[in-house]
Amino acid sequence: MNKAEKIRLAARKHCEEVIFPNVEKWESGTQYPLDAVKKAAKSGLLGLYCPTEYGGQGLSFAEGIPVFEELGRGEGLYAFSLSMHNIVAYAVCHHGQPSFRDKWAPRLTSGKSLGGFVLTEPQSGSDAARLQTSATINKDGSYTLNGRKAWVSLADVADVYLVVVKTSDNPKNKDSAMVAVPKDAEGVTFGEPYNKIVSPFLPIADMFLDNVTVPADHVILPPGKGLSGSLMAIDIARTSIASGCCGLMSASLDTALCYARDRQMFGKSELDFQGIQWMLTDIATDLEASRLLYKHASELLGTPEGTIAAAHAKRFAPDAAVKTAATCMQVLGGSGLLAPSSIERMYRIAPVMKIVDGTTEIQRVVIARALQKHAQTLPEDWAQLHN
Ligand SMILES: Cc1cc2nc3c(=O)[nH]c(=O)nc-3n(C[C@H](O)[C@H](O)[C@H](O)COP(=O)(O)OP(=O)(O)OC[C@H]3O[C@@H](n4cnc5c(N)ncnc54)[C@H](O)[C@@H]3O)c2cc1C
Repeated sequence: MNKAEKIRLAARKHCEEVIFPNVEKWESGTQYPLDAVKKAAKSGLLGLYCPTEYGGQGLSFAEGIPVFEELGRGEGLYAFSLSMHNIVAYAVCHHGQPSFRDKWAPRLTSGKSLGGFVLTEPQSGSDAARLQTSATINKDGSYTLNGRKAWVSLADVADVYLVVVKTSDNPKNKDSAMVAVPKDAEGVTFGEPYNKIVSPFLPIADMFLDNVTVPADHVILPPGKGLSGSLMAIDIARTSIASGCCGLMSASLDTALCYARDRQMFGKSELDFQGIQWMLTDIATDLEASRLLYKHASELLGTPEGTIAAAHAKRFAPDAAVKTAATCMQVLGGSGLLAPSSIERMYRIAPVMKIVDGTTEIQRVVIARALQKHAQTLPEDWAQLHN
């Protein structure tokens, strides 16, 4: 068995032995399950794309991203938080300056420290280029940061945050950098965690940066590279979300199949009704399609085709997950509304996947831009195109 397969199976085990037995307890409180994350670290799930010399697994994206399908069977936002951490660890290993990387990379791959990614602001979500949080570059090369970020996952729980900032006062200038900010840096504070309808254990909050000064070696991506580098990170995140959606779909489908197989009605099993079978066949097809899309995208990440492939996967899989959760709830009848079924949890998680790391509409924007570009390459006379 190769290493990637071992890690994928370790993720499956983590889901069965750590997520399934505890997820109801997690959901009843507001504590992020750090004990579970320590176990994930021991199973090799925290440094998927990092070189082995830093304690990572040295996997490619195509090898590592199926991990999130396994974790997504259990809890999609727990899976998301580990995916974000893995992307931060990757950025530190591959783009961090040697002194910063040597200190933080082993901590991140071993789970001693957790990482967060901070781009969104109160006034800029989809339109990320409207960010206002700014960095002044000091004479000694250190950066001083001021501003307010929003939707910071692992708020006050992660130990280091990769923060995207603008580095120019010119309102038309989209220059930006990515700077690592340790949680304990002076001037860093967090707002109250948002009161959201899903995964209360995952803290998400505003982050305030009040004259936060970090040394020059904390610059991960220099001015001019911050937003473009973030978009590369977001392509990985989008593909991982699509992978997590496949986990949500396969777990929901299994639950619905079990229920329908055992539920007797009108003299036969619910699963023997063609109306029910066809509902479930459509889910099976959507799952196959979503899996192919995320696997294809994960092969292309880092190439010029990666962005569009990730957009296709992120456009399709969360919609399919929403449809799956609703259909499976219907197959379970009233039982689908009850907590032990896990379907009600999937029903709340699935729509979040349409928003986080770029909404479904933004994926359409990305795809539409590519279509417009392609249109410019087509011959002038459409009527002659295939003659
Ligand atoms: C659970 C969760 C965790 C998150 N964690 C993080 C994190 O750790 N770090 C971080 O930086 N961010 C994080 N985010 C923020 C997330 O990336 C943003 O929520 C997302 O990019 C959308 O931005 P917005 O919420 O401001 O929506 P808006 O940008 O206000 O969009 C509102 C609506 O307008 C639509 N829209 C926007 N543009 C167009 C268009 N051109 N055409 C048609 N419709 C359009 C959108 O699709 C959406 O439906 C998280 C979000 C969630 C839900």
